Amino acid sequence: MKIGIFGGSFDPVHVGHLLAASESADRLGLDEVQFVTAARPPHKRIATPAEARHEMVVLATIGDLRFRASRLELDHAGPTFTVDTLRRARGLWPGAELYFITGADAYHDISTWREPEALVELAQMVAVSRPGYDIKRIDPFFRERVIPLEIPGYELSSTEIRARVAEGRSVRYLVPYEVEVYIAKHGLYQSHS
Ligand code: ATP
Ligand code: MG
Repeated sequence: MKIGIFGGSFDPVHVGHLLAASESADRLGLDEVQFVTAARPPHKRIATPAEARHEMVVLATIGDLRFRASRLELDHAGPTFTVDTLRRARGLWPGAELYFITGADAYHDISTWREPEALVELAQMVAVSRPGYDIKRIDPFFRERVIPLEIPGYELSSTEIRARVAEGRSVRYLVPYEVEVYIAKHGLYQSHS
C-alpha cells in the first residue's frame, strides 16, 4: 500500500487541494490519499470548528475513489504536530509506504516545525508546486529529501475563499458545489477573519 497523507486546515477545502492530491496520487501511484484535517494547528488561529472543516472535506472527497477524509487529528486531544500525526499514521497502517504531501509554501517555515528531521524518516516528503512559491528555494536540508512535483497552478487559497464569501462574491468553480452549499447553509465566513 502506498498512502498519501495530505494535511491542512481546509478552511475551507478548495479545488487547489483536490488537484494537488489527485496529481500526487497519479504521479506517485498512490493507492489512496488521506485528507487529514488539522484540529488545532500550532501556528494558526482558526475560527471555524474542526468538525465543520472536516465535514466539508467529507463532501469534497466523497466522489473520488482514491480520496479519504481522515479523523486522525480530530479524535486526538491536545495540539497537533505533523510529526505526531505521522507516527500515528505509521501505527495505523503498518507496512504501508507513507507519502506526506504539502504545497511548496509549507517548506518555507518547516524548520519551525516540531522535529523536522524526524519527518523525513517517517514518510517520503512530497512538495507540490504552488503559484507564488519557488519549489527550488526550500530549505537545503529538505531540498535533497523531498520529491518536487510540478502541477498545474491554481492561484487560490482558503484565505481568498473566505474573503470572497465575506464580500458576497461567488466561489463557484473554486470549491466543490457541495462545499459551496455547506458554507451558505451554515453561514460560514460571513465576516473577515
Ligand atoms: P489558508 O489560506 O487558510 O492558509 P490554504 O489554501 O493555504 O489556506 P491549507 O489548508 O493551509 O490551505 O493548505 C493545506 C495544504 O494544501 C498545504 O500543504 C498547502 O501548501 C496546500 N495547498 C493549498 N492551496 C494550494 C494550491 N492552490 N496549490 C498547491 N497546494 C496548495
Ligand atoms: Mg495555508
